[in-house]
Amino acid sequence: MTDHTNADTLRTPIVAVLGHVDHGKTSLLDTIRGSAVSEGEAGAITQHIGATDIPLDTISGMAGELIDPTDFDLPGLLFIDTPGHHSFSTLRARGGALADIAVLVVDVNDGFQPQTEEAIDILRRTGTPFVVAANKADTTPGWNPQDGEPIQRSLEAQSERAESMLNENLYEIIGQLSDAGFSADLYWRVQDFQKNIGVVPLSALTGEGVPDLLTVLMGLSQRFMKEEMAIDVQGPGEGTVLEVKDERGFGSTIDTVVYDGVIRNGDTIVVGGQNEPIVTEVRALLRPRPLEEIRTEKKFEKVAEVGAAAGVKIAAPDLDQAMAGAPVRVVRDRPLEGVIEEVKAELAEIEVETAEDGVVVKADTLGSLEAMANALREAEVPILRAEVGDIAPRDIAVAETANQDEHKAILGFNVDLLANAETELENADMKLFTDEVIYQLIDDYETYVEERERAQQ
Ligand code: GDP
Repeated sequence: MTDHTNADTLRTPIVAVLGHVDHGKTSLLDTIRGSAVSEGEAGAITQHIGATDIPLDTISGMAGELIDPTDFDLPGLLFIDTPGHHSFSTLRARGGALADIAVLVVDVNDGFQPQTEEAIDILRRTGTPFVVAANKADTTPGWNPQDGEPIQRSLEAQSERAESMLNENLYEIIGQLSDAGFSADLYWRVQDFQKNIGVVPLSALTGEGVPDLLTVLMGLSQRFMKEEMAIDVQGPGEGTVLEVKDERGFGSTIDTVVYDGVIRNGDTIVVGGQNEPIVTEVRALLRPRPLEEIRTEKKFEKVAEVGAAAGVKIAAPDLDQAMAGAPVRVVRDRPLEGVIEEVKAELAEIEVETAEDGVVVKADTLGSLEAMANALREAEVPILRAEVGDIAPRDIAVAETANQDEHKAILGFNVDLLANAETELENADMKLFTDEVIYQLIDDYETYVEERERAQQ
């Protein structure tokens, strides 16, 4: 093991899961979380705080002979719980992606699909190392891996027919990766994960191959990403807000991924807010309790500090205006003004241009708001107001103030209508459009505008 001094310790790599709809992203995350829980490790995550921490000893417990834990000095893997390239590209850290590494889930029977291509483009553009999870291998007739056996050996132990059927599908995926400009191979044949993409046949349903995937991710991080994982563990914490949530007994809280330094109870923090940076003091740092304790105890456990990389729920006054996707910075050993300026500078990168008249835009994170604004600019639709968060009565009131009737509209991307806005909406003189696909959302709005125009002629 390498000796790391206090000032230069390795943090957990942050992993995102991407892939086409229905190829098994959610199932894979559930299985990873579930296996960690059934490993019986203290601290296994049961409550959602946006990210799941899988410590090295849990991975090694799952992976058996696949892994020798003494080969590693990275502490484990931290999975972002929201899958998809949307959250990958809109959750950022210092202008880059929050995730260090990605799992691209591809259904072995279905191969590359449009969202697989999109995900690949994003991974290429951001230079993010990734591994392919060739999922649903259990649907290949004859697939019969032995418990606890590495997939390679299981594959060889199958009937020749099953092996060749699965192999055919796997080589199809390897070919598609090659068409996309990546050299790839079955993971046990890959020597250098920087040059070659490892493909791991697995089943998110049965869990077979999942330990292999975790092992490959650990190996990739350990060998090629150590420098990026070196942090000052005692430094002022830096993180990204995943979600703003009301939590009983705590008020507004922010689910946060801390990617650098340490955040302590009582710290002064600066958080990106709707109107201006929020300066507040940490009241509680909350981590989910292990399942077996929840029956008797509260859902969350208060901790004194959280070091990177980790998911944590932060309770503090004035967080109701915090924005998903915004930066969180601990103020320690440096002037508050400087930290506020840093947060402002990061937010300024995601400035949305608004006009005197236009539509109201709501989106789930800052990054997605920016993506919406760009798409609307291309479509030449002006924006009156753009904000992160669910649709509130106030938004309906604002949308109604638009001058042109065609602008009396809210375009909500990946957001819900708040319960207290429902009656408001019924009586409102405006239109609401919501979708989880930006282009679909804008298409719907444009169709509406065209139909209005036609009706008036
Ligand atoms: P997502 O849209 O990518 O998050 O996909 P889901 O995780 O929701 O999975 C889509 C469907 O495929 C669900 O019905 C899952 O039960 C099923 N599924 C996911 N993984 C597997 C697998 O490994 N094997 C089989 N047979 N079905 C799977």
